[in-house]
Amino acid sequence: MNSFTHPEFADHECVVFVNDKSAGLQAIIAVHNSQRGPAIGGCRMWPYENADAALTDVLRLSRGMTYKNALAGITSGGGKSVIIGDPRVNKTPALLRAMGAAIESLDGRYIVAEDSGTSPADMAVMAEVTSYVAGLESGSNSGDPSPSTALGVFLSIREAVSFQFGRSDLVGVRVHIQGLGKVGFELAKLLVHNRAIVVASDINENSCRLARDELSIQTVSSDELLTKNCDVFAPCALGGILNEWSIPTLNTAIIAGAANNQLLTHQDHERLRNAGILYCPDYLINAGGVIDVYQRRHGGTQADIDAGIAAIPARLKSVITEARARSISPEQVARERAEELIKVEARGSISIEAA
Ligand code: NAD
Repeated sequence: MNSFTHPEFADHECVVFVNDKSAGLQAIIAVHNSQRGPAIGGCRMWPYENADAALTDVLRLSRGMTYKNALAGITSGGGKSVIIGDPRVNKTPALLRAMGAAIESLDGRYIVAEDSGTSPADMAVMAEVTSYVAGLESGSNSGDPSPSTALGVFLSIREAVSFQFGRSDLVGVRVHIQGLGKVGFELAKLLVHNRAIVVASDINENSCRLARDELSIQTVSSDELLTKNCDVFAPCALGGILNEWSIPTLNTAIIAGAANNQLLTHQDHERLRNAGILYCPDYLINAGGVIDVYQRRHGGTQADIDAGIAAIPARLKSVITEARARSISPEQVARERAEELIKVEARGSISIEAA
């Protein structure tokens, strides 16, 4: 199988395989669509089982970024990169610089930011060799977009609860968070502050202990988290968690989380609809982080970032309302809207070239 025949290949514009033996770097950079501008998206470092798993992930993630950026109204295309390796063991300055050099060689077609397994400090190392980096520390800002992502997801949970249960507060609403990383932990904080009942899981016991100690929340195993009754399930770990095996076991009214690519296959949004679960499309509600890094890179203010994030729940409401009216899933409405936006941009760019 090659990239063109890969099941997740969706007319990606460019897929670059990076192999720098001296730096111990094996990575893939995918630009899905740059109709709306240079592609922006995070760099994930993960111990993939093999290169095909990494290719699958980067093809799916980069496509999701195209949809996310289009719906968020930022003039960026969609791209993503993955580094094959364990960030706790294999990450070195030489590896990060080699990744930066590979990004530099694309001449601005792809702008990198942090993701799972990478940090603003890693972005600073890449920035030694390329200017195509977003999400850098500056002044009092840490460069970490995770709090902005968490805020967008939190506001979306409130909107979905209002839509589903007709109430404007979260007091006593039971939210299950899978993954207490950079986003999940921040989300838990916001929910606890708003007096929701939070239960969480993480494969990392240290993260669970920290959440119990600092936020006084209960932590359980991932299996228990998925099947135990709750009002909102918030996936904040990795993708593919919603699939033909997990969906029948879920015991929730709403799914709204930060993880990218929560649906394993293109059929799973229909499975959720048939199960009577309101699914809030991941790329619609987790855009806070990319709005943050995009605005900072383009000279935007905190007020611009706040306005971008504040617009997310209204967009979600509009998508859910249309989905209900048409008896289709919110995922389908969001995808249609994103694809229309990309088409409109494509028509626009063709007319500019012709003029
Ligand atoms: P992170 O790496 O900081 O956190 C992920 C957490 O999930 C880790 O603590 C990990 O131990 C845990 N985890 C992994 N597998 C698990 C499992 N099976 N069960 C329970 N926990 C598990 O990543 P993050 O930055 O918090 O991002 C979380 C998700 O949100 C990712 O899918 C990421 O792509 C997506 N996302 C993040 C941002 C952002 O701003 N950081 C923006 C948009 C989307």
